[in-house]
This record gives sequence, C-alpha cells and structure tokens, in this order.
Amino acid sequence: MTSEIIVNGRRYAAPSEPTVVVCIDGCEQDYINQAIRAGVAPFFAGLGERGAVLAADCVMPSFTNPNNLSIVTGAPPSVHGICGNYFFDPEQGVEVLMNDAKYLRAPTILAEFSKAGRKVATVTAKDKLSALLGSGLEGVRFSAEKANEATLAQNGVDDLLAKIGLPLPAVYSAELSEFVLAAGVWLMRTMRPDIMYLSTTDYVQHKHAPGTPVSNAFYAMLDKYLTQLDAMGAVIGITADHGMNAKTDSIGRPNIVFLQDVLDMRFGAGTCRVILPITDPYVVHHGALGSYATVSAPQSILSEVAQCVAALEGVDRVLDNRAACARFELPNERVGDLVVLAERLFTLGTSATSHDLGGLTAPLRSHGGLSEQQVPLLLNRPVRRESNARLRNFDVFALALNRVI
Ligand SMILES: [Zn+2]
Repeated sequence: MTSEIIVNGRRYAAPSEPTVVVCIDGCEQDYINQAIRAGVAPFFAGLGERGAVLAADCVMPSFTNPNNLSIVTGAPPSVHGICGNYFFDPEQGVEVLMNDAKYLRAPTILAEFSKAGRKVATVTAKDKLSALLGSGLEGVRFSAEKANEATLAQNGVDDLLAKIGLPLPAVYSAELSEFVLAAGVWLMRTMRPDIMYLSTTDYVQHKHAPGTPVSNAFYAMLDKYLTQLDAMGAVIGITADHGMNAKTDSIGRPNIVFLQDVLDMRFGAGTCRVILPITDPYVVHHGALGSYATVSAPQSILSEVAQCVAALEGVDRVLDNRAACARFELPNERVGDLVVLAERLFTLGTSATSHDLGGLTAPLRSHGGLSEQQVPLLLNRPVRRESNARLRNFDVFALALNRVI
C-alpha cells in the first residue's frame, strides 16, 4: 500500500486513522455559531481548542453539484467539468442535466483511494449526486433518498433501513440529512472505512435562518452524530458546498430579476437564452431561484445585452465568458456567453410564468452568488499552515489527510 496518492496534481497522504469529510449543504458559518451560542453544539464548540477553525471560499457558482465535485476531486470546475446542475449543450442545442458521470472529466480522491486498496464509502442525501460522487469508486456508495433500493452489486451494501434502524426519509426533510449522518456512524462502527464522504441536503437552510429553533435543532442533530464519529477515533473534516442568504425585501417578498422577460422585451422573444444552472429535479424549496445565471446571445449584440443586464436593479455584475471562466475557473464550453451575478438579497429568474413559487412556504432563502461564497473549513485535529493563500472548500481532503495546508 502506497503511503500517498496523487490526484489531479495534488498529493494526499494515505490515512493512518479513518478520515471522514462532511459537506454540510448550505452551511453559512453563522448556523454553527448560533447553535454553539444556544448551547446545543458541544462538538463544534470544542474545535477551537483541539482542532482547526478556518474559513474558505467555495467555487462559483455557489451551487451544490459544482462544489461537491470540487471537494471530492480537490480541483475547480475547469478541471472536473461540473459547473452547474444544468448547462446548455451547444452540440445538441438543448439544456442538459449534468447529473450523469459521463460529464465528469477528472478522477475523484475517493475513487483513487479505493483503487489503491483502501476501504472507501460515500453517502449523499439526494440521489442526484450519487452517480457523480460514486464515479469510479470501488466501495460503498448510496443516497439516503434511495437507501431502500441499495443492493450489494450496485451499492456495496444492502438492507440499509434495517441495518441503520431508521425509516426511509422524505426527500424534502431534515431527516434526509440525519439519515446520511446515521449511516456514517453505522458504517464507521461496522466497516470502519479508511475514507468516507458524507454530503447532506440544504432543505433546512433554505427555509430557516441561523439561530432559529429548527436550525439549532438541525445543528444539534449533526453535532450528536459528529460526536459519535469523533469518539470512534475518526479524523473529521467539515466544510460546506455554499452559504445561504435571505433573498427578499424587508417584508419577506422574494426579490427576483426575471432576466428572460427583460431580454425578450428589449431584444425580441427568443433572441437571448437565459440558463439557470441551479435548476434541478428538486426545486420545491427554492423555486429554481438562485443568484447566478448565464445568458447566451448573438455576438453582434452581446455587449448591448451585457450593458442592459448590468443596469438592472439587483444585478451585482455581468462578466463575459472569458472573464468569468478565468476568474472562477470554469470550463468555457459549458458556460454561456455571459455570466450574471445577483446582489446578496436578489435572485435571477427566467420568466415570471416559468417559476412555480407555490412551494415557497417560507420567505425565500437561496445561494449562487459571491455573497454565499464564504464557508466554514473545520477539522477535529490541529493543522499547520504553511501559507497565507486563501483556502478553498476543496482543500478539505488535503487538510484532513495531510494536516498541513
Ligand atoms: Zn447545496
């Protein structure tokens, strides 16, 4: 067994103790801070004394899939290719879901350790991420959403509900994330993986602000399972795929810039195409509204379109493809002609008629912009910092395995 592996140009020491990386979906730093203040998060509270409490930037767009893939590849989207849930495929001329592993262009740290003979497991909340995160992985991989369907041949484990002792959770629930953590504790107890990746869902964070009773209860739940993993001797690295912010006016109405409507009115219907890469099959809690959009438009009017969008209330900035991909390390051919970022309190939509806001039972909270880029980067072991360079959430595996960053 080698003492280290190289993945996407980065070195990772082979684990001498079981190493768990947890991605808490939508974990704005203040969620943890408020849970500690409420006295319900002793594990988190203790990290300042015995571990490392750092902050990191997530990758842009501050969405779930690009960031989960960055975390497990240790690389930005320009390397792994996943820059949203959706992208416009110019070859097919249609919008395509990027859930399929065929869109992934880089090996994962998980897959490479499994090929090097290490025991590896990954558990995700929603099934949409399972194929991407499990790509090339020889080990245990399943989603909480479809835990009842897991088979030995497909997932490396079966009969999960009985083994973990929890019912199948609803897809829109706090219990979906709890199942992920409970599964992690069960796996640590029974199989003791060398490397494990656990990824939750942001259902709670989309509906509840930091410090509210539901949020504090959610972080108390996480704290309870992390305490158990810690007690079993696991090295635990914690980060988030993105932050979360309110996206409303002062009385709680959603702030939405309907870009497709604006562009259709100004340049003619269908001249420009707005893509919202947050769109996925699970949109009930955010109505497919985030703070990042791309626009495809004819070259002849591109600068006019950019100026038109940049002048709108709620728009933070507009970058052309080259500038956006250089700054955010994105794959040029999977990003539209323009990248549009909304201000902290605003979201970007297509047309007013194409968003179903019926599922928004609480004032809109979402992500996608630069305002949701700062996330926690925590470890239950001390680390040595060798540079002052900004940290990224996708440094978490290097941090947990190498203890030096
Ligand atoms: Zn997320």
